[in-house]
Order: sequence, then C-alpha cells, then structure tokens
Amino acid sequence: MRAAVLSAFDSPVRLTDVPPPVAGPGEVVLDVAVCGVGLTLERARTGALGGSTPRVVGHEIGGTVAALGPGVTGWAVGDRVTTSFYLVCGRCRWCAGGRETLCDNWGGFIGVHVDGGLAEQVALPAHGLVQVPDEVALDDAAIAADAIATPYHVLTARAPVRAGRTVAVIGAGGGVGIHVAGVARAFGATVIGIETDPTKAAGLQSHCDEVREEAGDLRADVVVDTVASRASLTAAVGAAAKGGTVVVVGFQGGVTVELDPTPLVLEEVTITGSRYASRADLMATLDLVARRRVTPVIGARFPLSDVEGAYRAVQDNAVLGRIVVDIA
Ligand SMILES: [Zn+2]
Repeated sequence: MRAAVLSAFDSPVRLTDVPPPVAGPGEVVLDVAVCGVGLTLERARTGALGGSTPRVVGHEIGGTVAALGPGVTGWAVGDRVTTSFYLVCGRCRWCAGGRETLCDNWGGFIGVHVDGGLAEQVALPAHGLVQVPDEVALDDAAIAADAIATPYHVLTARAPVRAGRTVAVIGAGGGVGIHVAGVARAFGATVIGIETDPTKAAGLQSHCDEVREEAGDLRADVVVDTVASRASLTAAVGAAAKGGTVVVVGFQGGVTVELDPTPLVLEEVTITGSRYASRADLMATLDLVARRRVTPVIGARFPLSDVEGAYRAVQDNAVLGRIVVDIA
C-alpha cells in the first residue's frame, strides 16, 4: 500500500510502498479516508517527540473499520471512526479517572511510536477508537480528534469558560488556535485572536470578535497560548485579567520565562497547561461538530501523492486552519 514514511529524523517524509498492516490482538485495521497534517507532525519529523524510524506518520485520522484483530469486540467492519492520538493503558488511576493523557503507562503517540494514518490503511488499538456520528464527515472528524478536541479540553477542563467571558488566543491562525476561537464562541465567550501574520489575521476576522497583532493592554479572563515561545508566554501572563487563567497548550523544549509573581497573588491569576484531550472529550467534540456548534476550518487539502506538499505548507506556516491529506 501507499504510505507517507519518515525514514530517518530530519529527512523529508516520502510516499513509499509498504506492506499493508495486519490487525494484532486488540487492534483494528482502518481504511483511512483522510489524515490531518499540522505542526505536531513537523516536530515529530525532526525527532522532537521521540519515537523511532522508519515510521508511517500521521495521527488525525478519519476512516472506516476494515478488519478486526483477535479479541476485538464492539466494533464492526464499516464503522466510521477516528482515534485518540495517545497510546494509553486504560487501567491506571488516570485512565480510570478520565484523564488518560496523564497515563502512568503511557505508550507514546500514534504516528511517532507506532505507525500512523498517512497511509491507505493503519492498525490501531481498538480501545482508542471513537465512533463518528453520521452527521460528521470523516475529514471534519479527523481534525476534530486533535485540532478541536485539544481546545475543547482547554475550555472545559483547564479553564472552563461560560457566556460573557473573554478568551484571548495567541497564535489564533494556527490549526489549534482557530479552533480555540471556534469552541470559545460556541460557549458564548467573546474571542480576541492574536496573530502576527497579516494574511492569517485578515482571514481570522470572521472567526474572532476582534483580531490584534499583539496582546498589548488586553485583559482577558482566559488566555490560551498555542505558541509557547518566550515572548508569547510573557505576553500571555501580562494579558490575564484579575482572576484570569493562562493556559499553555503548545510547548517547545528549553523555553524559559521570567515571572513576577505579583499578579498571581494580588490578582489571583492562574497559570496552567493542558495536555491533549480524553476520549470523552473527543466524543463531546464530535457532538459539537454534529450539532453545527463548531465548524472545522480546513485551510488546504492535498492528495496522498503530494504529501510532501502538505509538509511544505506546514513548514511555510501560511495556511489558516488545518491542512488535510485525502487518502481515499
Ligand atoms: Zn493508564
């Protein structure tokens, strides 16, 4: 079958012929319809997320069940599904408590530590799958599973928002950022998008209540930093209103910031982070999409034959919203 393969860290991802996967115990094989491509894949390409090569990449997957491995129950050939990005045990206290991204026995990422979904077929753990509602297209489901579920987790579990609150999004034009805006608006918040790229900023006007180049004197109840650079983290803390919460979503190893604790005490500002999303979050996110409360933003599409073009688009950082690769 055709697959996008990273043969060595820091080399280009190339379309390659590989043997089709076989469903092992507890696994299903999917016919992949579509797979999202974002900055996480570019970071994985460089080796920043660990794992090993050669590796079939890709984790934002929409597809249909093609085969069941030994011991798999509850799924049938033809079921429309997406998957969690994380390999988790399902048994530890974090998994049992619905916070499986903190799993004590975390097994890594799909498309980084095991083969992923930028391919005609992929074998995945059945316990990580989520059913896609009939009303949701598989391309929307694919990006909902990361680019929308991640913001859903931020705005429900880490900094719950309700109508009337103000949410600022740093890096609002990115694949996750634009969906932070979409989910925040679905919850009735006023959204300030902060985006330095002028073309993306122009495209964001219809997705945010206001778009700014920098935070400046902004004071928001929730500040979501999807960039997590030294400059953006400093701006995020400065943009939190009294009683506000700063949530760091992206991260880059080795970035440090100086912090004046005064607003943490005198204004009870909270600084926290948010790690991906649970399967329950994925299900709730798909429900929001099914009910047209949140609209997935797909900024560019590529065929699998031009997967290198999809990576170039990520590296150029010029696409508003998410990039998808059509497999079928
Ligand atoms: Zn676990």
